[in-house]
Amino acid sequence: MIELQRLNKWYGEFHVLRDIDLTVRKGERIVICGPSGSGKSTMIRCINHLEEHQAGDVIVNGITMTRDVKRVEQIRRHVGMVFQHFNLFPHLSVLDNCCLSPVWVKKTPRKKAVDTAMMYLERVKIADQAHKYPGQLSGGQQQRVAIARSLCMHPDVMLFDEPTSALDPEMIKEVLDVMIELAEEGMTMLCVTHEMGFARTVADRVIFMDEGQIIEENDPETFFNHPRSPRTRAFLGQIL
Ligand code: ADP
Ligand code: MG
Repeated sequence: MIELQRLNKWYGEFHVLRDIDLTVRKGERIVICGPSGSGKSTMIRCINHLEEHQAGDVIVNGITMTRDVKRVEQIRRHVGMVFQHFNLFPHLSVLDNCCLSPVWVKKTPRKKAVDTAMMYLERVKIADQAHKYPGQLSGGQQQRVAIARSLCMHPDVMLFDEPTSALDPEMIKEVLDVMIELAEEGMTMLCVTHEMGFARTVADRVIFMDEGQIIEENDPETFFNHPRSPRTRAFLGQIL
């Protein structure tokens, strides 16, 4: 579903991604962790061209990413993304946040878009707030809306960039529960998160990044109990 081949990226002189190789198969759940500044966000943002890479290949569903706008749009249709700070449109109701892309990008008739949105809002248990504005909801509720909004585009893969990092502790579980449900339904997921309980329950593989490289990659049991690299051990020592 996703192939990163020898992916390299620079911000000016700064070499932020170094020879990243990663394959994500259909239905796989991958957790990415690593210190702040290690390039986790940059890497997943390259997958839907929110960041541009300079060398190597990004291939999604067999389509190779280029600068070509049509190509970028084609790839983005397959890829849903959920951000740390929700990124909902503040001037649109919850329902309209969910209908915007289906109506304008996919040309879905409004009635059908509304039905689909209500179905996903139901799934994240927030359908009763559909006519409120994001600012009237808690952080956890906003993040569940953001997940529902992504699902309305029927993505084949979902990227999560620290979806619970901006939340108060009591709201983390309600968002993780939605993510666990998605995983159980077979969604292909790439999650940057430091929620190691989530990684243990859900991940097929855990990836550790440091200084723009993938340092270690293993099944959760091996990753947590027998980390190979001293850098991984040091990191786990700090967060567990
Ligand atoms: P992470 O998500 O692992 O915390 P990021 O991918 O956000 O790391 O950032 C990796 C590195 O790239 C950091 O050192 C950060 O300061 C730098 N960086 C991120 N975005 C930019 C940018 N737009 N311009 C220059 N440097 C950036
Ligand atoms: Mg980040």
